[in-house]
Amino acid sequence: MAHTFDGLGDIVGNGFCIGCGLCRALAPSAAIEMREAPNGHLRPEPRRPIPAAEEAAILALCPGINVTGPFGGGGDLDPVWGKVRRVVRGHAADPDIRFRAASGGLMTAVSQFLLGSGRVAGVLQVAADLDDALASRPVLSRTPQQVLAAAGSRYGTSASLATLLEVIALGEPIAVALKPCDVAAVRNLQRQDARARGLVVFTMAMFCGTVPGLAASDEFLARRGLSRDEVAEFRWRGHGCPGPTYARTRDGREFTGAYEEFWVDHPWTTQFRCKICPDAIGLQADLAVGDAWPGGWPAAFPGEVDPGSPSGTAAGQEFGEDKGFNLAVAHTEIGAAVLAAAEAAGDVVLEESDIAALRDCQPHHVDLRRLLAARLAAARLAGLPAPNFSNLGLEAAAAGVDPDLLGANFAGTLKRLRAGHGDEPATADYAG
Ligand SMILES: Cc1cc2nc3c(=O)[nH]c(=O)nc-3n(C[C@H](O)[C@H](O)[C@H](O)COP(=O)(O)OP(=O)(O)OC[C@H]3O[C@@H](n4cnc5c(N)ncnc54)[C@H](O)[C@@H]3O)c2cc1C
Ligand code: SF4
Ligand code: SF4
Repeated sequence: MAHTFDGLGDIVGNGFCIGCGLCRALAPSAAIEMREAPNGHLRPEPRRPIPAAEEAAILALCPGINVTGPFGGGGDLDPVWGKVRRVVRGHAADPDIRFRAASGGLMTAVSQFLLGSGRVAGVLQVAADLDDALASRPVLSRTPQQVLAAAGSRYGTSASLATLLEVIALGEPIAVALKPCDVAAVRNLQRQDARARGLVVFTMAMFCGTVPGLAASDEFLARRGLSRDEVAEFRWRGHGCPGPTYARTRDGREFTGAYEEFWVDHPWTTQFRCKICPDAIGLQADLAVGDAWPGGWPAAFPGEVDPGSPSGTAAGQEFGEDKGFNLAVAHTEIGAAVLAAAEAAGDVVLEESDIAALRDCQPHHVDLRRLLAARLAAARLAGLPAPNFSNLGLEAAAAGVDPDLLGANFAGTLKRLRAGHGDEPATADYAG
């Protein structure tokens, strides 16, 4: 029988940590610091021994090893997308939000609506660190301006939940607008903690292909002769859709690069946990939001995305800009109600969409959900501790997948694990 994780070191050492920072909050006695590891991802470093009760809380709540999906209770669920109450294609009504945000600005517009309508007193998001423009820090945005300042996709590690318990201790209703694994952590806490259940009244997640290590961003700067400490502002995208990668130095010089320079033209690495992510599409969020690019790449032409690659491969594609649209899935009643109320208030512009559009625009997420059972089986066989990934419908998601592809992913994962996992090239071959 597979063994389970025995502590924080075991989670990090086996490549299951996603750097969320929740353990820092759960183990105050250990004075955990979140440090950027050589792979460009934040990792927890305890300064003092972790008391048993605090380590038990980490083992129970860490989202790296605890993810509970919506497939446990029966009902009418899509095998990939889970409980789907409404799918929309849309954008923020405000053209400035739409321009500045990552895609269409739906997450920003809905966050502002939640604040403006008095449903929440703050939105937990991430924003640029004040001392390091590439680093990210959690922020509790209390005004529309603060929400807008945190707009955009930060393609780098973020300890999004390092302040979660402090924020909940304020005793005010809040929303979270973060990654799916961050929302998994919030749900873990809510299952055990009535206060968290009562106060986190809305959860929003983006679809999340992976978080690259910050080395990719450092290299973007190095190609322009810059180092991180010279940079006052850095954007991975936004100011268009997807918009340019952008750096402004402290002395006012500006540099840009195309989306494909960051994602396609140069190698980058990711973390092992993202390769076996059981929910990168926000199955547990009230509202999950992503890009609306057919084929999964900006202005990509369907058919040019390599179907064998769960992380997607652009082969000779030309990328383009659009005006900014999101696809969004309301998974819960409150998710659907908030979408409708934001629409009625004139804050968002929506049209009905469907699961077929999700499949078309997110092929790498469909692949990952369908291939995950094979990858996790290989991880078990390779002797990794068994994570508590439950109610995720992984066997049903794998139904009908070409057995050769499942077998290739099983074998590929074993091969990767034998070669040593952790700091993975994004192109690491999990299918052979
Ligand atoms: C790491 C990452 C991977 C992604 N992968 C995909 C993908 O595979 N498919 C897809 O369709 N879309 C992906 N996106 C999402 C996409 O880039 C947009 O964020 C999404 O479409 C929402 O757009 P928006 O205009 O509504 O967001 P905005 O209105 O700009 O709001 C973005 C929100 O996300 C939060 N946020 C930004 N970066 C992070 C971070 N690193 N950690 C936690 N919260 C963060 C912000 O604080 C803000 O609340 C990814 C985003 C990120 C950050
Ligand atoms: S709680 Fe977050 S930071 Fe801590 S070990 Fe788990 S994933 Fe890593
Ligand atoms: S792929 Fe999964 S584990 Fe990785 S950052 Fe995204 S949601 Fe978190």
